[in-house]
Amino acid sequence: MSIEIKALDEKVVQRGKQFFQSIAGEAPSIFNKGWWTGKVMDWAMRNEDFKVQMFRFVDVLPYLNTSESLSRHIEEYFGDKDANIPDVLKWGAGKTGFGGGLVAMVLNKAIRANIEGMARQFIIGEKASEAVKGIRQLRKDGFAFVIDLLGEATVNEKESDAYQRGYLEVLDAIQGEFRKWDGLDGGGELDWGHAPKVNVAVKPSAFYSQAKAVDVDGSVDGMYRRIEPIYRKVKEMGGFLCIDMEQLKYKEITIELYKRLRSAPEHRDYPHLGIVFQCYLKSTDADVAEMLAWARREALPISIRLVKGAYWDSETVIAKQNGWDVPVYTIKAETDMAYERIAKVILENHDICHFACASHNIRTISAVQELASALCVPESRLEFQVLYGMAEPVRKGLRNVARRVRLYCPYGDLIPGMAYLVRRLLENTANESFLRQSFAEGAELERLLENPEKTAQREIAARKDVAPASTQMAGRASAIPPFANFPNVDFTIPAARAAMRQALADVRRDFGRTCPLVIGGREVKTPDTLASYNPANPAEIIGHVCQAGLKETREAIACARKAYLAWRDVEPAQRAKVLFKAADIMRRDIDALSALQVLEVGKQWDQAHADVAEAIDFLEYYGREMLRLGAPRRMGNAPGEMNQYFYQGKGVTAVIGPWNFPLAISCGMAAAAIVCGNSVVYKPSGLSSVIGFGLARTFKEAGLPDGVFNFLPGKGSVMGDALVEHPDVSVIAFTGSMEVGLHIQEKAARVQPGQIQCKKVIAEMGGKNAIIIDDDADLDEAVLGVLYSAFGFQGQKCSACSRVIVLDPIYDRFTRRLAEAASCIKIGPSEDPANYMGPVVDRAAQANVLKYAELACQEGKVLVKRTDVPQGGQGGCYAPLTIVEGITRDMRIAQEEVFGPVLAVMRAKSFDEALDIACSTRFALTGAVYSRSPRHLEKARREFRVGNLYLNKGSTGAMVERHAFGGFNMSGVGSKSGGPDYLLQFMDPRLVSENTMRRGFAPVEADDDWVA
Ligand SMILES: Cc1cc2nc3c(=O)[nH]c(=O)nc-3n(C[C@H](O)[C@H](O)[C@H](O)COP(=O)(O)OP(=O)(O)OC[C@H]3O[C@@H](n4cnc5c(N)ncnc54)[C@H](O)[C@@H]3O)c2cc1C
Repeated sequence: MSIEIKALDEKVVQRGKQFFQSIAGEAPSIFNKGWWTGKVMDWAMRNEDFKVQMFRFVDVLPYLNTSESLSRHIEEYFGDKDANIPDVLKWGAGKTGFGGGLVAMVLNKAIRANIEGMARQFIIGEKASEAVKGIRQLRKDGFAFVIDLLGEATVNEKESDAYQRGYLEVLDAIQGEFRKWDGLDGGGELDWGHAPKVNVAVKPSAFYSQAKAVDVDGSVDGMYRRIEPIYRKVKEMGGFLCIDMEQLKYKEITIELYKRLRSAPEHRDYPHLGIVFQCYLKSTDADVAEMLAWARREALPISIRLVKGAYWDSETVIAKQNGWDVPVYTIKAETDMAYERIAKVILENHDICHFACASHNIRTISAVQELASALCVPESRLEFQVLYGMAEPVRKGLRNVARRVRLYCPYGDLIPGMAYLVRRLLENTANESFLRQSFAEGAELERLLENPEKTAQREIAARKDVAPASTQMAGRASAIPPFANFPNVDFTIPAARAAMRQALADVRRDFGRTCPLVIGGREVKTPDTLASYNPANPAEIIGHVCQAGLKETREAIACARKAYLAWRDVEPAQRAKVLFKAADIMRRDIDALSALQVLEVGKQWDQAHADVAEAIDFLEYYGREMLRLGAPRRMGNAPGEMNQYFYQGKGVTAVIGPWNFPLAISCGMAAAAIVCGNSVVYKPSGLSSVIGFGLARTFKEAGLPDGVFNFLPGKGSVMGDALVEHPDVSVIAFTGSMEVGLHIQEKAARVQPGQIQCKKVIAEMGGKNAIIIDDDADLDEAVLGVLYSAFGFQGQKCSACSRVIVLDPIYDRFTRRLAEAASCIKIGPSEDPANYMGPVVDRAAQANVLKYAELACQEGKVLVKRTDVPQGGQGGCYAPLTIVEGITRDMRIAQEEVFGPVLAVMRAKSFDEALDIACSTRFALTGAVYSRSPRHLEKARREFRVGNLYLNKGSTGAMVERHAFGGFNMSGVGSKSGGPDYLLQFMDPRLVSENTMRRGFAPVEADDDWVA
């Protein structure tokens, strides 16, 4: 039977009105202004600044264990004057003034108690026994339950084990008594005559700390291992298990997990397993259709809980930050429409799919009821679910009209409870929230119950009305769109993973070839070659790279000099065009270019992709920068005089690239030089020369004239000094170690015979980057941030974290979690996306890191030393992941750059001391702070003196423009790459001043400053 929702609309509205009538005069407790929570919600909805501060304060509260830190945070979040503290916050503290001893203590106590009370409102209990007691009460009131153990993503496997134990514990507690419970509505073994009494919900990501989108199979395996025993126990009790849906990155994994559990031979005959779909995702129509088709193919009855989705803000922000299409609807009514549309599909398939309608929206609920009635869905195939602590009138109304109502009951500690509370608070105070509109704002019934299609149309029309202004702007802008970072790869998309796998196979077919030099557009072969090998398997040769000697170096510089004389006069727009073309080529080849990095230097998939994306960004950004700088600028506006300021490329530029960002950094330095009108002699690192050859090919294909970019791999010891010292080389752009950088500066400073120009050196050198962990840091984020900053790409980034400075009060908790997390990550070839860490770049790097790991163990106390790296026949260049503690600022491991997976943990008594330690090396490249203290963050801004400081994020992963990159002190000379000053270093400014007056007559220019 086919039913149109529109045709049911009148009935839906009618039903909705009756629903509202049945609960007239009632309001959910969270909006009850007679109580603290209601007052706070009211204040938050009227004052956006307070809302942000309040929710952030709620988030940090569980970490404020001393009265001193609680007082400090209250003051930092809400101001230091009594008058600034909203009265609502002081509620329960009596009529006290703020500040000073006892009075402040009373206030602190009241605030803590009120917030904890608010959190408890959404939680059925902190202990299993309390949860069971709460459930008993709910059942007495006629509600079924689904129990959920609070907990977000876990950061190590011990935490995942503990999470699993938590579930088994609450099940044990329920097992002790559930048989004594009468079934709801009619008694018997089952609720409502058909539903299991025990119902459990699980959040899959918490069951496997190593889950990641790029490794679907590994993630499913990890989750399955811990969830399956819970399912078995639930089955023993004749219960129901629902797998919740979390962030989009886990969606495919969760669906796969569900299918595996549902179709496992041992469980096929048991129908009580559910999954959740989120209607805010644009992909959900297709996902639900596919799931239903699967159920039919497999002949397996399934159960779906349909929700709108709890992560709308974060999905939107993450997509925007990564340059992805926003995966969720952006008009609320579109989500509501999707809900009704998808609910209809599920109800049409009620023979194979049980439906749990989870919403507090009376329009949504009424539509589902009308659809079910029109489609003659039996009662046993549909139930309603709401969240514990929310929407009490809705659940009561539902209980009256639909009987079958289940409450979703989180239980557990208050720390994860606060994260859950913040989500609920956000949901309830959102402008779009149905509950807010209905119960806090008293919106009109007609509007609340309106068909969402109509609402969406109105919203779309309103947005269109605003659109013309932006269209006009676009019309005025130049033909080149503004710069935008190339989107990060999204490995949640199966095609992205398949493309990478294919690319790895494809590039491998090309291995073993010889890469020539490229001088003046000619390919030049030399007898001396260097084999570049796969660090995970040194027997695998990526390519043989010809090595330049002194003769080839001189030839290359001569060709570059000749090419420069013509190229410098090419119009800036023309030069920029070549960069844009090169960017197009890299976009086309991104998978192959990334795969080559995985195999030649051992980058993980996402990091390799990010490197190519950064190269593309440099091309696009510097192209636009040259357009900005390329037009001559008039200086002053005196009539009769025309002064023009413009730039000219300096000359031949030696680009000496590193292996750690083998394409991005080389491409950035070369592209900057080229677009400024210079020619380039490019010496790649010997460890990534095959990737370097790819850059030569790209520029050639982009139409760069011969001789402007010369590819000159060679041994530093043979031709390095000759390149730097040559009198015709004007600029040296270098990225690498401090030792080599200083050597280059020394060589470049000495004027050679025949040299007519002072050489300009731009050098990005080392770092000894620190991350500070404040005593109120969010440890879930801090542990993962430090782990990624220290061990992503094996710690071989100049921005990598090599010191973590932890404040005393949080030291033990942080280091324990960090050590556990570091002990769990997978180590192996980067080609396998399941591995978190791979081999270091070559044998020499391996020997160096081993030496430093040894030193670290001598100077400090070992927390983690992972020697369980792949062994076997391949003999990869693995170095042990090493974390040591007890390190003080004067020790070598706290001062020398290692460039490998060695992390020193240092303890600080205060935030000031942490800053002092952080700034106690000669480097100043990157740094990071995890803190929720506004004052400490402000202080770090001023006093953590590094080139790039990151607050509440890791120290690596800089993006062109957004995080223009580079340091000072011994970390480098020159301005930031990917920033607005970078190109200026490659050019000489010139000024031409012309007297335009002839015999007393001067032409008039529009911007002349004539006498008024
Ligand atoms: C029993 C139960 C279980 C749940 N399980 C899960 C789960 O496993 N996974 C999960 O993610 N959530 C889950 N939720 C939470 C659920 O997603 C939210 O409670 C729900 O989205 C609120 O929807 P509503 O219909 O009650 O309210 P409404 O006020 O009608 O809808 C609010 C929702 O609309 C969407 N929205 C808000 N603004 C916009 C916008 N500008 N454009 C488009 N859409 C917008 C968001 O999804 C927001 O949550 C569960 C809820 C319940 C009751």
